[in-house]
Amino acid sequence: MTVFQQIIDGEIPADIVYEDDRCLAFRDVNPQAPVHVLVIPRKPIVSLAQLEDEDESLMGHLMVVSRRVALDMGLDNGFRPIINSGADGGQSVDHLHVHVMGGRGLQWPPG
Ligand code: AMP
Repeated sequence: MTVFQQIIDGEIPADIVYEDDRCLAFRDVNPQAPVHVLVIPRKPIVSLAQLEDEDESLMGHLMVVSRRVALDMGLDNGFRPIINSGADGGQSVDHLHVHVMGGRGLQWPPG
């Protein structure tokens, strides 16, 4: 069981900024930018590498929610959605999530 599943199940607290029947968005506990929110599906998908064809609409929904959260948080000047996938991708929690980061100029490329 991942820590994100525990958040979905209400077993541990999170600073939830948006939720609906398919996803949840909450503030990252270790923010790397003034705004750093994670958008996660309620469905326990391990990573982008484990996506199935039937998840196409759900992934689109996560993008639309990422946009909504970013604009609700005042990121009118831009923001960066990031999906780390697998060990080399820097993924540390095995439940698919979109990082929505902004509130400062973000560097490119990432390390
Ligand atoms: P990743 O390295 O892409 O898998 O990102 C995982 C993110 O989850 C990291 O940015 C962590 O700071 C964040 N995180 C881990 N545990 C929690 C938690 N309990 N509540 C909120 N964010 C968390």
